Amino acid sequence: MDWKGIPFTEVFKRDAHIHLQEYSHLQLDLAISRAIACDIVRFDCCGTEPGDWNRVSNLAKQYPDNVFPYFGVHPWYAEESAIDIESDFSFLRSMLEKIPYAGVGEIGLDAKVENTDYQGFILDQQLELAKELCRPVAIHSAGLIGELYEHLKPYAGCFPELLIHSPSMSYEMAEKFLKLGAVFSFNLFVLNEDFVRMREIAARVPPEAIRFETDSPRRILSGYEVAELNGLIGPECIPEVHKEVLAIRRRYASRGVLS
Ligand SMILES: [Zn+2]
Repeated sequence: MDWKGIPFTEVFKRDAHIHLQEYSHLQLDLAISRAIACDIVRFDCCGTEPGDWNRVSNLAKQYPDNVFPYFGVHPWYAEESAIDIESDFSFLRSMLEKIPYAGVGEIGLDAKVENTDYQGFILDQQLELAKELCRPVAIHSAGLIGELYEHLKPYAGCFPELLIHSPSMSYEMAEKFLKLGAVFSFNLFVLNEDFVRMREIAARVPPEAIRFETDSPRRILSGYEVAELNGLIGPECIPEVHKEVLAIRRRYASRGVLS
């Protein structure tokens, strides 16, 4: 989907998964101006629960040429006591209908939260809405990869983009997601040689399935002196991620090794 001249595939200009709503006001201006100075001009800004959707929507208004908003219930917030299916989902629909280019995210499954069945139910509701409104989808996955695959399988080819952020799974599983039309977005974790599975996916998926993200300000990697912003990491470190992914791919193509 082309959006204000910046398509999904313009990966070098895009931070494909970020939570700008979690920056303080001052940090936000700095993060955005630093990123734009590095020619990172599109921010796919993911909401996580009904309580932050208005902030995401306001950011899309405040930075109309840069912020591409997503609204969704993250698995961490998919609790029966916290989500009112009727009112929260009609709120979600109204947010999506108000901004016709908005996506659905961050949604998915997380093994760290125990209510897998309820997370799956919430995920299915949101996938259905994204399909109906033909919106891009941003997926969180942490464990439960086989289960996630089963949830996504009926939706192959249904979304303008199906993005799996910060992927951690075997390459064999990644290949199955590729067949559903998924793309993968890599963040600073890919610089860490301990993240072998993420590095293998970065090395082997076709180039058109690669995106870059920072997941900032959440994704803080100690040990890297890259682009730290008052203890936070901003979208200006996209070029670092890009450089590492390219290096891994070159090594893998020439010598079959990741490091
Ligand atoms: Zn995130």
